[in-house]
Amino acid sequence: GKVPPTAVVIFGASGDLTHRKILPAFYHLKKNGHLPEGMAFVGFARREQSEQQFREVLRQSLADFSHTQPIDNAVWAALEPHIYYQKGDLSNPDDYQGLAERLRSLPEANLFGQNHLFYLATAPNFFSVVAENLGKAGLHAGPGVNGSRRLIVEKPFGTDLPSARCLNETLHQVFPERCIFRIDHYLGKENVQNLLYFRFGNSIFEPLWDRRYIDHVQITVAETQTIGSRGGYYDMAGASRDMLQNHLMQLFTLIAMEPPASLEAEAIRDEKVKVLRSVPTPSSEEVQRNSVRAQYGPGILGAKTVRPYREEDRVSRRSLTETYVCLRLEIDNWRWSGVPFYLRTGKALSRQYTEICIVFNRPPCVLFAHSLKHIARNWLKIRIQPSEGIHLLFNTKVPAQPLIEEARMDFYYRQRDHYFPEAYERLLLDALIGEPTLFTRSDEVEQAWRIIDAVQGAWREEELDRLPLYAPGSMGPVEAEELLRREGRRWGDSPCEEEESVR
Ligand code: NAP
Repeated sequence: GKVPPTAVVIFGASGDLTHRKILPAFYHLKKNGHLPEGMAFVGFARREQSEQQFREVLRQSLADFSHTQPIDNAVWAALEPHIYYQKGDLSNPDDYQGLAERLRSLPEANLFGQNHLFYLATAPNFFSVVAENLGKAGLHAGPGVNGSRRLIVEKPFGTDLPSARCLNETLHQVFPERCIFRIDHYLGKENVQNLLYFRFGNSIFEPLWDRRYIDHVQITVAETQTIGSRGGYYDMAGASRDMLQNHLMQLFTLIAMEPPASLEAEAIRDEKVKVLRSVPTPSSEEVQRNSVRAQYGPGILGAKTVRPYREEDRVSRRSLTETYVCLRLEIDNWRWSGVPFYLRTGKALSRQYTEICIVFNRPPCVLFAHSLKHIARNWLKIRIQPSEGIHLLFNTKVPAQPLIEEARMDFYYRQRDHYFPEAYERLLLDALIGEPTLFTRSDEVEQAWRIIDAVQGAWREEELDRLPLYAPGSMGPVEAEELLRREGRRWGDSPCEEEESVR
């Protein structure tokens, strides 16, 4: 599809997200020829600043944050005159009337008409307020509107199931579900989109993709950063709300889903929701057996001394918020019954990477039993970031000896000469076109919360006064190793030297 002329309104236009991600994405869309004549970009925030000041700050942000450098001045010159600043308070309905008038009076208005894309780059407590106020100012979507009015929302989509439902209901009063684009930027990553192409565009993997051949699946989102300045937000959220409910659950559904009836958005999203629906709500006892939560303690990360989580800024000294979570899930369906999926994510870990590891059943050892104590399981690793790629491990003979050793086949995306759009670039293009596949549907959000709420509920019952600690610069707490070990498994996290050099 082609992008129609559209007025993009960014609420929270002086914020970090706008400068780091949204603006560079629009710049690249312009640079790559995706934006037509008649686009306008309206920044909405509270602070007093002139249009000229706003544009200058944005220009600087491009220089700071764009993933391609240097900035192409001709592209900026074509974009800049269409960037506007509208001062306003998110909670003041009158300011939305002002916004509506401004939109009507812009020079591009005769081209974009009523095509509006509203981006909520604000703190989540404003999501409902903005939607309601847009409705009051006649900027809603639905019947009677001659154009496409769309809303982009960033996570977090609620903090539990009741709040997510409530948010969805409020948004739906102003924007029908098909007009709401919930961003989980993981879905904009190339190798996440590739999961569907890889699974359903090959005939050799899908036949193995079930309980008969797969022993278990590991999904890891490992981060080296500590909490930094995000303590105020993070201490309320923790790893399970901040990462597990959204990013890891997205990877989980894409790996586990059935082939969709078509590549239409609803067909794909239906299959993803079916996976979540097939995960039984865990009992407290199951959560206690199948989850690990922990906090980073004091230690050294790289060359830096790290404060324990409880001593970070704006974190409660008695905090029970987890900076690491590992959860074992099972899917009660025909394909996956009995296959564990281990999901883990944490801060202040030794490495920064996102990876899905599919571990196949061990081959019967009868033929080699005399010469081997151990025969490795085959595994397939899908590296989401960094150095996106796909790696397959298999066993081969050691030359001149009757022994077996492990070998790998490695594919690295970046070895090929493709342009890699940033996740936001891809997602904003899709939102402008009205293509919802890579956005999270309301029922997906709610199903994911159902599982996370059960986990949180069980943890609350434990009434601990402190969480297990792990050392910064490790790969997490020993309890997470133990969770796999007691089932005869282990984490397959050993990125090899070659991977680092190819990046
Ligand atoms: P931020 O830097 O704190 O920016 C907040 C923005 O909201 C500012 O432009 C601020 O403008 C505006 N604002 C606050 N109160 C307002 C009011 N009453 N009326 C009008 N404008 C108001 O936040 P952020 O880091 O950009 O994050 C925004 C959202 O994106 C959050 O929900 C966050 O969780 C999410 N997110 C952020 C990132 C990231 O990379 N930063 C990544 C993923 C998700 P003034 O100061 O001028 O009032």
